[in-house]
Amino acid sequence: MARTTDIYCKVCNAKSVIERTERIHSEFARYYCVCKNPQCGHRFVMNMEFSHTTRSSKLTKENLLKLTLQQLSQEDKDNLMRLLKEESR
Ligand SMILES: [Zn+2]
Repeated sequence: MARTTDIYCKVCNAKSVIERTERIHSEFARYYCVCKNPQCGHRFVMNMEFSHTTRSSKLTKENLLKLTLQQLSQEDKDNLMRLLKEESR
């Protein structure tokens, strides 16, 4: 199902490729594109913007927390425990 984005040159309609992506923030990026038609060579920028969610992520807050904890070393966990204890004092 996964496929690369098809971008076409607006001048000659040939397939174009993304040469560079500039990530402005998590919901907005700029694609710097180049037309693959050697007779054209048009360079242009496409704006890619997040629209909306059609299915919510399986990474709920709880799962995210679990995932993060799994990546911690025992030392990290000990430190975390100490911090949590200090916090609840
Ligand atoms: Zn072109």
